[in-house]
Amino acid sequence: MDTTKDYAQQLDNQDPLRSFRDEFYIKEGQYYMDGNSLGLLSKKAEAAVMNTIEDWKQLGIDGWTSGDHPWFYLSEKLGAQSAPLIGCKEHEVIVTGSITTNLHQMLSTFYKPEGTRTKILADELTFPSDIYALQSQLELKGYAASDHLVKVKSRDGLTLVEEDIIAAMTEDIAVILLPSVLYRSGQLLDMKRLTAEAHKQGILIGFDLAHSIGAIPHELHDWDVDFAVWCNYKYLNSGPGGVGGLFVHERHLGIQPGLMGWFGSQKEKQFDMEHTFTSANSAGAFQIGTPHILSLAPLLGSLEIFEEAGIKNIREKSLQLTNYMLELISVELNDYGFTRCNPLEEERRGGHVSLQHEEAARICKALKSDGVVPDFRSPNIMRLAPVALYTSFVDVWETVQILKQIMKDELYKQYDPNRNIVA
Ligand SMILES: *Cc1c(COP(=O)(O)O)cnc(C)c1O
Repeated sequence: MDTTKDYAQQLDNQDPLRSFRDEFYIKEGQYYMDGNSLGLLSKKAEAAVMNTIEDWKQLGIDGWTSGDHPWFYLSEKLGAQSAPLIGCKEHEVIVTGSITTNLHQMLSTFYKPEGTRTKILADELTFPSDIYALQSQLELKGYAASDHLVKVKSRDGLTLVEEDIIAAMTEDIAVILLPSVLYRSGQLLDMKRLTAEAHKQGILIGFDLAHSIGAIPHELHDWDVDFAVWCNYKYLNSGPGGVGGLFVHERHLGIQPGLMGWFGSQKEKQFDMEHTFTSANSAGAFQIGTPHILSLAPLLGSLEIFEEAGIKNIREKSLQLTNYMLELISVELNDYGFTRCNPLEEERRGGHVSLQHEEAARICKALKSDGVVPDFRSPNIMRLAPVALYTSFVDVWETVQILKQIMKDELYKQYDPNRNIVA
């Protein structure tokens, strides 16, 4: 392969999405590889926040029903705008809550233990907060998580084998929750196949899209997925603590939410102030309280960018970026003890590159002080996410060169090996 900077520059020149970089605030001299943890601010997102503040200033209470984006309908509007990223109908999606609160809502709605079908299936590599939510949902129903939460084992500690998941879909399982993309290794699971297999066994299945939303196209409606949850602050650049989202397949709409609240009401009925809940006939039914308007606002601007760029183009560039990064790593860092964790096949890979190294904590600290922002996951994983909308091929080239220098001169050795950090 061509490892020159000129070649990286050439790739940038040929990139049809290159102009989107100018939409973002990118710090001069910094190579931001952490957009899968917190996406960068775009000018459009910033403007949307400022407009919302202005509406508040000018309209006061009337902002709920007037202005460019009446707050009363904002979650529904943003849901409809998110639909192309999920591959679903507009009424199947709502922007609300966080991954963890939305999981609680989904599980309290869809986890209905019956007869001998009482267990929840997840996997042993899943993000802790998802596991905590599953544990508490089991316990709320009177089951011990120790024997009712079944976790599919990983053969290599990094990835899952679909056949192992399918084999665990036994007749005592009521609901399955899986990640679309595993947060450490970046493995992309075959959601379509897993959904079909779950349904063959009469099991409901949901996905956590934290590491695929905004990076990978989905077809949740056609795949017949029962429910999904995600956050919007990673690849979707909606800001720290930006409001998340959820999808419920239309065949379930009309079901009573496990956790009812007035914002789940039919819009026309909400202000009747009845003590009988009239559930919205859309994913909006799963909202609970008043929407966090100021934390929704950035998504208005951000989703415009996704609409302009197109998620298929974003995925294509993301794969080019990660392919390029993986090739550079295999040529330039071959001698330095890194193990690649993400699968190589494009259909099994998400948006980030994942490397394992016993000195990952110190290497991340060294990278950060040299202008690269990586992402460290204890105890020994380093994630690098070149983001299609704002990372250039030259950024990837520079990142690998800086990393090579750190390894070659053992620069990481001057850093504290304490792993208790978020790099
Ligand atoms: C980022 C992330 C979360 C975070 O959940 P919040 O409730 O939004 O804080 C949960 N699960 C996964 C897999 C994640 O990657």
